[in-house]
Amino acid sequence: MRQSQLFTKTRKEAPANEVSKNAILLIRAGYIHKEMAGVYSYLPLGLRVLKKIEDIIRNEMNTIGGIEMRTSIIQTKEVWEKSNRWDDNIVDNWFKTELKNGTEIGLSFTNEEAYSSMLTQYIHSYTDLPIYPYDFKNIFRNETRSKSGIMRGREFYWKALYSFSKDDAEHQEFYEKAKQAYKNIFQNVGIGHITYMTFASGGSFSKFSHEFQTITEAGEDTIYIDEAKGIAINKEVYTDEVIESLGLNKDKIIEQKAVEVGNIFSLGTKFSEPFNLSFTNESGEKQLVTMGSYGIGLGRLMGTIAEVLSDDKGLIWPTSVSPFSLHLIVLGKDKEGDTYKKAEEIYNELTKKGIEVLFDDRDESAGAKFADSDLIGIPMRVVVSDKSIAAGGVEIKERKGDKSEIITIEELYKTYKPNCE
Ligand code: ATP
Ligand code: MG
Repeated sequence: MRQSQLFTKTRKEAPANEVSKNAILLIRAGYIHKEMAGVYSYLPLGLRVLKKIEDIIRNEMNTIGGIEMRTSIIQTKEVWEKSNRWDDNIVDNWFKTELKNGTEIGLSFTNEEAYSSMLTQYIHSYTDLPIYPYDFKNIFRNETRSKSGIMRGREFYWKALYSFSKDDAEHQEFYEKAKQAYKNIFQNVGIGHITYMTFASGGSFSKFSHEFQTITEAGEDTIYIDEAKGIAINKEVYTDEVIESLGLNKDKIIEQKAVEVGNIFSLGTKFSEPFNLSFTNESGEKQLVTMGSYGIGLGRLMGTIAEVLSDDKGLIWPTSVSPFSLHLIVLGKDKEGDTYKKAEEIYNELTKKGIEVLFDDRDESAGAKFADSDLIGIPMRVVVSDKSIAAGGVEIKERKGDKSEIITIEELYKTYKPNCE
């Protein structure tokens, strides 16, 4: 992509009413646009990051047997009355509206009901189980506080997978696989080293649920970490009894602020019961389906990465989720000159090889281009200038470090291969 054609521009200031670091950086760098508190649009750069995250999650979900689909956002009142979650006194974050004929409808704030209701039409026999459908979709919640940028949206994009198993044993087997898939996901998006599987309250069907909590001052949760074991306990269930039951050493536990980037939950028959989601087992008896839920907020995850992997100059994306692999910058005044021609050639060649390049071909000063590049945060910068050409090639520099070096154009082509190779 040519930066001259990217309509978004970097900004020196974020909107005056924006208080969260992730939103300030992402707005200034042109990744998101603020519609109102808790509601953001994803601009071209932001969408590229979101899609990278989506692909990483999809890959892990498919590996453990997930089947992607898409449930509707508009949902009927009747479905939610079955699980007793339509009433505003029970769920207070509903966005509801009505059809022209007065029929009440809601915008989905979660998916258990949609799946449980729908699957009664497809699950009949033990041979139909287990199944693991999931979707990526926008979720709507009328959150009371929305001051954390894209980490807490009123409209947000998530992945939710639901497991439908014959019994507890089958459920547990998948649950363990999901834990590992989640660990892989947070590792692959670059925050594995500061993300902990955290024991949290489990509702009525299991003692604990598992949250994946990333350490950040911007988080709203408090967790207690045992570094040696690599696990944590959420404040809500942090008691001497729990510490002991998990075999943790109380003296070594440290308190941290963290954000829940994902969670996995055993649901038992909480939803299969009201929806009568059952199957005929091998003995010919009716049996309720055992369910689990597995969520990740993609916007929250992107906001968390922005929050924790950034410095005073701007964003620093891990390669795996960066909108582009390389930021190619050409310097000089003469658009018809050899240096520009060389940069064009490099851009075309890399693009032809399938490498994602953002090419800063704008008529701006070196200082302005470098400042923008630091703000946008692509992990590797490649500068083509009269000076670099005279020195034998291009100047490369990692966003993370201070050191730069000159390499030949051939070396550049050899080093950068498309992701799929
Ligand atoms: P929280 O306690 O932070 O409100 P939650 O328990 O309501 O989260 P779930 O309903 O389990 O979250 O949703 C699954 C995942 O969706 C969460 O782990 C989180 O990553 C994400 N998520 C939840 N609420 C929001 C939101 N308002 N904005 C962005 N992501 C969210
Ligand atoms: Mg919530």
